[in-house]
Amino acid sequence: MIQSKYLLILTICSVFIYVGVKFRNNTVATKIEPVIYYQLKDFNTVKKFDVHIHINTKETHFIQQAIADNFYFQDIVDDRPFGVIMDQQQSFAKIHLNNFPDQMNFATTFKVSNWDQKDWVKSTIAHLKQSFAQGATAVKIWKNIGMDLRDENGDFVMVDHPRIDSVLTFLSETGIPLLGHNGEPRDCWLPLEKMIFNQGYYGSHPEYHMYLHPEYPSYEDQINARDTMLEKHPNLNFMGAHLGSLEWSLEELAKRLDAYPLMRVDLTRMPNLKLHTFNNRQKTREFFITYQDRLIYGTDTAINPTDDPDELKDRIHQRWLDEWKFYATDNPLKLKGYGKLKGLKLPREVIDKIYFENASKLLGFKTMG
Ligand SMILES: [Zn+2]
Repeated sequence: MIQSKYLLILTICSVFIYVGVKFRNNTVATKIEPVIYYQLKDFNTVKKFDVHIHINTKETHFIQQAIADNFYFQDIVDDRPFGVIMDQQQSFAKIHLNNFPDQMNFATTFKVSNWDQKDWVKSTIAHLKQSFAQGATAVKIWKNIGMDLRDENGDFVMVDHPRIDSVLTFLSETGIPLLGHNGEPRDCWLPLEKMIFNQGYYGSHPEYHMYLHPEYPSYEDQINARDTMLEKHPNLNFMGAHLGSLEWSLEELAKRLDAYPLMRVDLTRMPNLKLHTFNNRQKTREFFITYQDRLIYGTDTAINPTDDPDELKDRIHQRWLDEWKFYATDNPLKLKGYGKLKGLKLPREVIDKIYFENASKLLGFKTMG
């Protein structure tokens, strides 16, 4: 009896010591008061925000599902060369914002088809000002810068280019955040057999598989250009899309979050996050707790005019619910190709930040409720 009492005290002590473990140079605060958690059934009652949505239609089925699931969201316009073009995306965004101003915000972007013109900076800033007047509250910069756009000498234009600096200085001064999809997952530069998750995509799209195109900038070139950009603009509110293209390493991501205090990342690389958890759940939890103010929930869902309304609603609802399971509970989950893992069961205050407060602060988004 006495022995088991000592064992219990020892176990409690070791729990507190373990909670104090460091993730790089940030100490996870030791909590004496009991930690509160959400459950699966709280999914509907908790206010949530999906920071990475692309609506390519004037239909509202997605928005109806968001309202039903207590989700707010950001619709992101970008300058992609396929599907619905930038101007059309922006006109859908304006219609939706007009009809659902309490449910969403939208991020605009700028074109580079006129890059060579002398007044590119001036006309880009004028376009951004006009978009802000129409309700945009953030700006997206896409991977075409770094992977497609070339200057007059045929060299790739990277995100730290001086001409882009002028636009970013404008954003820093106005406080409008930049959302950066810079580069691609590291898999893109690896041979198919060394990839973690993207064999299917790059296998069928060799034109985008950078391992086959060594004349293009390397993965390191992309990350270095992004880091240089952040060094040059310390007052820029920045959110790196897709875990800042550092999805493969929590250590590498932590280094950037430590180095750039205004950098946040969205969590739109769920298979990688599950793999980190599968490999080391404790370390992954510590990462989330340490950087709880810098991580923003998102799915990168595209809503297209060809979507069947019921299938779309069901798909997004199921995804949001499954991911809630991963973050808020320790329910068993599966990772295809690897096996079983347990959800992270993050404390309630961490869930509230990554699911709403961090996006709200970054974007100046407020709800009525
Ligand atoms: Zn996206």
